[in-house]
Amino acid sequence: MMHSDGDGSTSHAQKQNDDVSQAPPTHSSISATKRSTNITRSSETAEFPSQDFDDKLSSTGSVFRRDDFVGGPVTTATIRFPPKHIANALDEEDKTAKHNYLKSLGRIVFARGPWIESHPLALSYNNPGRNNATKSSDEDEIQCMTQALEDKSSYKTLAFGGLAKNRGGTSTFETVSGMIFPSSSPSALSYLNDSSSRVESCHSINRRISVVAFGGRRISFLSGGGLWSNSITNKNGKDTAQDDFVSIPIAKDGSLTSSYLEVSDWIHDVRLLNAELQQGNNQSAFLLAMGMTNNNCEIFGFYSSTQDEQETLQPTRLQCITCDVRCITYSLSFHGWDSTSVLSSDEQLPSLAVASGTVFSEIVVWDAVVNSQEDENDEESLDTLVKRWLANVTAGANIIIKASRIRRTSLHRLKGHLGSIFSVHFSTCGQYIASTSDDRTVRLFHLQPIDESQTEWKLIWTGWGHTARVFDVSFAYPSHALGEESSHPTLVSAGEDSTARIWSPLQTQEVSHPLRGHDCESVWTVDVCDGIIVTGGNDGCVKLWDLDNRMMEDKDIRTFVVPKDPPIQSTHSEEKITTEATTSKPRKKQKKKQKLSGQLICGMELFKCHRLVVATRAGGLFSLDLKRNTWTHHKCWHDNVISLEDKSKLQIDPTTGTCLSVSPSAAKVIVGTTEGWLVVASLDSSCDVASHAFRCPSYRPVQSISWIDDDNVVVFYARGSVIWFRMEYIPLPLHIMTLGTPGIPLSFAYDYKQSFYIGDSRGNLAYFDIGQSERNEITPTSVLKAHAKEHVTAVTVMKSGIIVSVGNDGCMHQSKVANNGQLQRLVSIPVPATTGLKHIWNDAILGGFYGNDYVVMDNINGYEFVRIPTGGRQKRQDFHIGFSNGCSHAMAICTGQKDGSNIIDFHSSHLFDETSTLPVPRHQRITTTYNIGHSYHAETINDVTWVKKCGVKPAYLLSGSNDCSVKLMEFRNGTFASAKELPPHESCVRGVCTSSHPATNTSLLVTCGGKLTMECYLLDHSSADMDASVTALCSYRTTGSKATIDHRMNAVRSVPLPSNENYHFVVSGDSEGNLHVVMVSELPSDRKTTIGEILKGNGRPVLCLELLTYNWFLLAFVGTTGGDIQLWTFSIAKLIGCSEASEDGHRQLGDVLSSTASCEFKAHQSGVNDLSASIIVGESESVVICSVGDDQTVSTCLIHFAESGPESLSCEGIRLSTTQCASASALKAVELILDDSTFHRVYTSGHDETVTLWKLDFARLSLKYVTSVPIGTEGSCLDCCQYNHPDGTIREVVAVGGLGTELLSFNLTTLLAACALIEANSLLITAGAGFSADSGLQTYEQAPLSYREMCDPSKLVEDPLKFQQFWLAFTRSYLKTKPHSGYELLDQWCQGGKLPNLLRQSDGSTPWWVYTSNVDGHFRNTRLASFRESVCEIHGCALEFKCACGIGFANGEPRLGWQKWNEQVQPTDACRETKLVMTDDAISSSLLLCSHCQLLPMRANVLMFHDTDENILRSISVERDRYQAWEATVEKNIETSGKRFVVLELGCGPTVPAVREESEEVVSDCAKIIQSDKSRCVKSGSVSFIRINPKHAEISLSTSEPTRMISIFSKAEAALKEIDRWIDLLI
Ligand SMILES: [Zn+2]
Repeated sequence: MMHSDGDGSTSHAQKQNDDVSQAPPTHSSISATKRSTNITRSSETAEFPSQDFDDKLSSTGSVFRRDDFVGGPVTTATIRFPPKHIANALDEEDKTAKHNYLKSLGRIVFARGPWIESHPLALSYNNPGRNNATKSSDEDEIQCMTQALEDKSSYKTLAFGGLAKNRGGTSTFETVSGMIFPSSSPSALSYLNDSSSRVESCHSINRRISVVAFGGRRISFLSGGGLWSNSITNKNGKDTAQDDFVSIPIAKDGSLTSSYLEVSDWIHDVRLLNAELQQGNNQSAFLLAMGMTNNNCEIFGFYSSTQDEQETLQPTRLQCITCDVRCITYSLSFHGWDSTSVLSSDEQLPSLAVASGTVFSEIVVWDAVVNSQEDENDEESLDTLVKRWLANVTAGANIIIKASRIRRTSLHRLKGHLGSIFSVHFSTCGQYIASTSDDRTVRLFHLQPIDESQTEWKLIWTGWGHTARVFDVSFAYPSHALGEESSHPTLVSAGEDSTARIWSPLQTQEVSHPLRGHDCESVWTVDVCDGIIVTGGNDGCVKLWDLDNRMMEDKDIRTFVVPKDPPIQSTHSEEKITTEATTSKPRKKQKKKQKLSGQLICGMELFKCHRLVVATRAGGLFSLDLKRNTWTHHKCWHDNVISLEDKSKLQIDPTTGTCLSVSPSAAKVIVGTTEGWLVVASLDSSCDVASHAFRCPSYRPVQSISWIDDDNVVVFYARGSVIWFRMEYIPLPLHIMTLGTPGIPLSFAYDYKQSFYIGDSRGNLAYFDIGQSERNEITPTSVLKAHAKEHVTAVTVMKSGIIVSVGNDGCMHQSKVANNGQLQRLVSIPVPATTGLKHIWNDAILGGFYGNDYVVMDNINGYEFVRIPTGGRQKRQDFHIGFSNGCSHAMAICTGQKDGSNIIDFHSSHLFDETSTLPVPRHQRITTTYNIGHSYHAETINDVTWVKKCGVKPAYLLSGSNDCSVKLMEFRNGTFASAKELPPHESCVRGVCTSSHPATNTSLLVTCGGKLTMECYLLDHSSADMDASVTALCSYRTTGSKATIDHRMNAVRSVPLPSNENYHFVVSGDSEGNLHVVMVSELPSDRKTTIGEILKGNGRPVLCLELLTYNWFLLAFVGTTGGDIQLWTFSIAKLIGCSEASEDGHRQLGDVLSSTASCEFKAHQSGVNDLSASIIVGESESVVICSVGDDQTVSTCLIHFAESGPESLSCEGIRLSTTQCASASALKAVELILDDSTFHRVYTSGHDETVTLWKLDFARLSLKYVTSVPIGTEGSCLDCCQYNHPDGTIREVVAVGGLGTELLSFNLTTLLAACALIEANSLLITAGAGFSADSGLQTYEQAPLSYREMCDPSKLVEDPLKFQQFWLAFTRSYLKTKPHSGYELLDQWCQGGKLPNLLRQSDGSTPWWVYTSNVDGHFRNTRLASFRESVCEIHGCALEFKCACGIGFANGEPRLGWQKWNEQVQPTDACRETKLVMTDDAISSSLLLCSHCQLLPMRANVLMFHDTDENILRSISVERDRYQAWEATVEKNIETSGKRFVVLELGCGPTVPAVREESEEVVSDCAKIIQSDKSRCVKSGSVSFIRINPKHAEISLSTSEPTRMISIFSKAEAALKEIDRWIDLLI
């Protein structure tokens, strides 16, 4: 595990330096003024508020969400199994079954940068989106297995909680370098022989810790993550913890807590020891040892306490131990202190040994903790300190322990390595130490006795084989060893040569066994758990390898000799031998004769991996039973052959035999001959069936044969024809396919949809539509040159219809049949580490040659199965491979021997070891999934761009990296759903871009990079299958200049050329300062007409550029290493003329391009790393540019243009403003977003590993800091896009590339709402039942049935007390319920003055009003100052009660049916005015009477159904009149004073639509005013409508600009909180 020396840090430095030109500055900002443009400059220093980072992501603190993080180095990875207490809880008696079940519960845990992830072991984590390559013969069983585990989730968390406080300087995130797991086991086997478990006696917190993570100087404790912490398992053991990671807080000074502890030095290794407290104490405690960089060690005691209702860890530093060998260590490892054991109070501390790997090639072994009696009385001894500390913890006493410092003497200094020690590990028994170093070796040391009292560590073995630095090593215990340490340890190492290697040091065969598959150079970590090797590296992938299978491979090679041929009877052979004998050159012929006399194989086939059939050219036909290792001799295949046509007896010469194929049922074989005969022989030795033969006389010789099924066979003839025979009584040529190419047909694929594909020896791929043809003689519908004139060795058709072919050119080619019936090239991807491909299985498992080896690999997962020396592809061999289960294989290779015999080497993986009687263990099948995470870029990503078409889902992210690769990631609902790799560049990829014509469904993708290359692709958004969606278009390479690796294109941008839907205008800038101007056509047939031109810039390397379409011009802004920004202008009219002319092919682009930049100005003191430009919406004359540089500044530039005719454009004036100190280190990326919100956003990112959001103020041309988010990578590039989330909101998502890609997003809808509110001059809040419900109150839908019944004044007459009590119950609940926080936020916005444009008028009137149907009176809450005078409760308020004197009247007249009631009523003014505002005390159980008349009962001041009570109506109408007067003023202000008005509707559903309708009416009225103003050319105000509703936020009003409609599908309280966070950030 490397911290400082990896390629990550060096690439920083490189990237900063490699484009800096040494030329003295010749140009200056004056060049802009020369062209008579005015440049005004201003500068200010960025102001950061003294607040913490906006870092508590996805919790309440931040507006940003973390959507995804892909790629980035995996620094540590392991597999964990359930702990003993779960194992003990299992009912299962059978140890093997128990073990297998427990093993199936295993989890893969790894750290990628600052993140920790935990995944179930058994789930499939193939690269997303692609077809699962594994097909299994017993799929059902695996299905069952995975289904049982399906409910297990994956978990992910930030290891150190991100609670960073200080801005700048160091990274706010810390990379995890190691983890330990106190609650789980590294093996599912270890406890099987030992059912006791003392850890059971531990108290809660120890059991809750599932991961102790450390990195840098930080250490943190986490629970959960599915790692069996905090779980009491039920009887059947299935209730394993399915819980998220939770950080356990650690106490800091005073009452503060932190999610991590920061210590004095870098941590290399950690051990945890549980400590027992006295009985009855429900606290828990443990000791923690940390091994550190300065060859030192610190011991901490932790105990649990409760702080703010949270269980918190209290740390106490007990001892600092240093070794007398003072040195810097790169690695350190402990031995001793088992986290599953418990230290009891009367026990001595167990000893703890240290092995430290120094920078100077020695390993120092010393004891940090010594278990001896010597120190017993020493006050400072650790044992004493621990006892004292434990006593204090038990007593609950205040613990003040001054940490003691001691020095230990080194015991051993292990020499042998010739470089720094990168990793050092003890074996479980402590008798061995394995280490790795930058000297490319793995070494093993053994503790040996010198005499009775002394021991020494002896170097007993050195493993050579890694071709670069070796980073990590792990002891491996094969699973069959049942956890017992073998006397011969096996080691697995990993390093910078992108391999992991298996070593068996003490066995006779010292083999280094490379495991290839990682896409990166650096494989940082390796661990072995229960026979599964887990590796992780820079490509962001974790790979699993089966140790047992790997080791079987070398052992399970069985060799068989093909039986001797039967006696030769054929006269042909005798003749030949005779001819040889009479020759005149005996010596030479002697040799040939010997060869001829040997056994010749005409064909061999492996059948279902357990039976091998061989035919010889002497007629021999043998089959080998691989279960019994026995040969069966069949009747000679050429004997007694009867013609199928005329039943005549045929004489077949066996020496003409060329090939063999076994029928799918294994009942028969066909042997083909050079004479064109196809001999069908039976393999059933029990019955004597005669062989039959047939042929098509005009076709011979036979090249190869393949069965489609038992009744159909396809025969390849050497002269270019392929015949499909139906094997009827007389075989019938069903289809005769003739290639028509000079090549020989070699391979085919048939997709059962009447499509037949044939690959030939000249690189051609032919497509036959056999369903379309009437005749049985068919010629290809389409032929595609696919494999550069090399053999097309295998073809397959994927489920999606994509045709995948492989060939001797080492490429995997993808094509499809386009709508016009022609084969269309998609992409051709070179397969790494192969020179010629031979086979393809299951769409993605490839077989090919590399040097003299035959290699089988899984191309999806990058997993090499087999590598067998075969002599290379030039050597003639018959071999055959069978596959099942995706990774289980059997392979037979037949090679001729000098003595004339033939030997078959049979290799098989574990699963085919069917000689053993034991069934294959289930768990080993589970491990057939061996890849977790995207195989993403292995090095820094230099550029990212979103590829999106309006209204089309999904979006894609195109990225290019220093590792030469280009990836296209599909983005769905906030995460990456799948990935596609485009062909890699020869050198680094520096720039990517995309553009699309609005009316089409396609996007142009362009990538550029080293060696001045540029590649163009077309992405078809309508294609359902991602694999078929990208088509290669063209490459651009400059001619003339010699392009070296150092000579590269650094940036590229493209725009669609207006008025010509086929063309795009692409500009790239190179390291010589030149611009390459290229026109690219989307039509593949136009490929040759792509034209390019080079424009000379100022000679300084171009680092970034941006293209804009501006009226009739294309503007290119170019940033250079000198800090300059140049502006180039191109006339669109001329370009279109050029694209049209180009169809004749000859008019040069150069004729129409200006050769100098229009203007140039200095924007930065050093290189302009990135720039982003945009036309200012609504202002036709200006463009704004934001740029960032190594000088840590952001420059903002406003350029005004004067257009003088369609061919000339000039800069009128330049305003440049610089924000100094915008970052603590170099800024690398910037993105400017201008949309119709008032918040003009600028995102920046750089080496300080943060993304910062700024607000651009046009008027002052300055940037205001809004917020920063720490990210898990350096931010070397970024891009933004917006998408519609399924929850109804619009999200803005920022993709930041560095070492991996981080996706951050926020809810743009709430941002727009916040912007509208900030601008608002007046605000109408309309609130419905939903708003009330957020406080926990009932809505109408939830009200009891009696509500409708009791909401009727006439019920008062029937039973006044019941009626009153019913309403008082509501009143009580309204009084008791605290209004939710949304009310307070609204109050802060209004009376609190938070909304700056919403100020109370001088006469005291408010610019805000509340209009609500709620009767809970919560807006009247005394704590809210805003709404006392400005609330219109249209249904009254249940907190008020009135005299019921008016209840029987309507419009002053007695109501019908109320006579009896009205007779006792004498409404007086005093009674009418009576109002009782309820308080808790006022509520009683007896009937409340009017305080005035003391006669009539009180009624709630709530408008009921059919309510005509004048007292109620009057009080409501008073409010309503005031509200309407206010509303009229608002309308007038919009019309006359250009005021901005916001209607904020909260929780108004369509059930009781009164309030909803009121909002809509007000908005419509205002919109009409604005509309009419517009028609009268009066600049009026605006109205915005924000509707917040979890289900019904849709707005169906049709209004025109500038009315803004914002729908927020959310509960009101939550939405208001989120809006408030934005308001906080923006004001
Ligand atoms: Zn009264």
